[in-house]
Amino acid sequence: MGKVICIDGPSGSGKSTTARAVAESSDVLFVDSGALYRIVTWLALRAGIDTSDPAAVAAFVPDVKVDFVVKGSRVAYEVDGAEPGDAIRTPEINAHVSPVSAVPEVRAVVTAWLRAMPRLGDIVVEGRDIGSVVYPDSPYRFYLDCDPDERARRRQKEDEGKGFVQTAEQVKASLLARDRIDSTRKTAPLKVPEGAIVIDTTRLSVAQVVARILEASGATQSSSHAAK
Ligand code: C5P
Repeated sequence: MGKVICIDGPSGSGKSTTARAVAESSDVLFVDSGALYRIVTWLALRAGIDTSDPAAVAAFVPDVKVDFVVKGSRVAYEVDGAEPGDAIRTPEINAHVSPVSAVPEVRAVVTAWLRAMPRLGDIVVEGRDIGSVVYPDSPYRFYLDCDPDERARRRQKEDEGKGFVQTAEQVKASLLARDRIDSTRKTAPLKVPEGAIVIDTTRLSVAQVVARILEASGATQSSSHAAK
């Protein structure tokens, strides 16, 4: 099997930015596992499924079809031939994604998708249970942590760029609510994977975190993937 670099941590800890940068500066492909849970949530809402009903969500998930396509340094997800883009990053999806991703049948489907990804090449995967459940045997497992106020600040800035205007308090409340559901759910809760390298990113730059991960995982610097 190819190399799998796992990056877990709570919302706003810098996982996406870091994993993307790792992929762009080495020969690995960026895999965003949260986006897969978001796509399931988006499609469930579009189909009129009550996301607070685990049985309804479980019955719906086998109908979800996603295509995996390598684009530059990332694995892109297409639904009916197109990427959903920011439609899966709205405050509405933020409010529904944690209950949906707590459903064991949803986790089984997404985990199977993620375990098939190394077919496409070496990967860096970011999420909540990557080093603990999806790839517990990978030697390259990292957990990013960060102060909640700093996480809310980062997320608010990111959301503003997407046109979603919310107060810092609203962003922090949404983020902490997701943390709570993600870390207390029965199946694959968010936690520090045993043996993972923990990095507190509160006072570190992205470049510093990336350098640590590249060094510890022996990823070779390369520009063979065009950034996209
Ligand atoms: O990382 P992102 O904020 O896009 O993740 C959205 C949600 O998807 C998380 O709050 C969590 O509920 C779920 N998730 C998960 N397991 C993962 C990745 C994301 O449960 N590996």
